[in-house]
Amino acid sequence: MESHVLLPLKLSAKSGNFIEFYARQNHENYITIKEELCSETTYCQFCGSTETKNLHIVNKDLDYNVNTLKNLALACHLCAHIQMLDDPAWSFDEQGIIYLPSISQVTLNGLYQGWANELKQKKNVFEITEAISELMSFTQQIKEVLNIEPKFSDLLGLFAVSYNDGEFVDSLRWVPSIQLLKCLA
Ligand SMILES: [Zn+2]
Repeated sequence: MESHVLLPLKLSAKSGNFIEFYARQNHENYITIKEELCSETTYCQFCGSTETKNLHIVNKDLDYNVNTLKNLALACHLCAHIQMLDDPAWSFDEQGIIYLPSISQVTLNGLYQGWANELKQKKNVFEITEAISELMSFTQQIKEVLNIEPKFSDLLGLFAVSYNDGEFVDSLRWVPSIQLLKCLA
């Protein structure tokens, strides 16, 4: 696989970002800038995936008021969503947050993208269902670590502000359910 210099992918739920993200998508400027960016870059700048047909523009510093060209990056569907987890268009019941320092979110996204493709072709459905339900079952562990019974929406507060490498939050991963992944496939 071709290697690209990638931008750090961090889980984020900064309030209101998803509103700005959707609001600008039909603007003339957005379409022009997207064409410009896509003429130079043909992959997701966060996970390196070239599989995706549809790239979105996200703001690198998560500030949607700063729309200078150097603050804009292209993201696949998963990487864009991970940076606006409070988007209510994605059912909160079909997503989980797990503590998994050994596997990066980028690696997980690669797995999920592969699984989505296989599901579309109805391949390995049983194995994929098992693997995803195992990952989703780790949401139980976070309840034990935090000693509360948080729902997905309760955990979003953790990602409302910036955090540094090495912090607990930096070891948390986003996982979609099999139902959500089928919708994406
Ligand atoms: Zn990506």
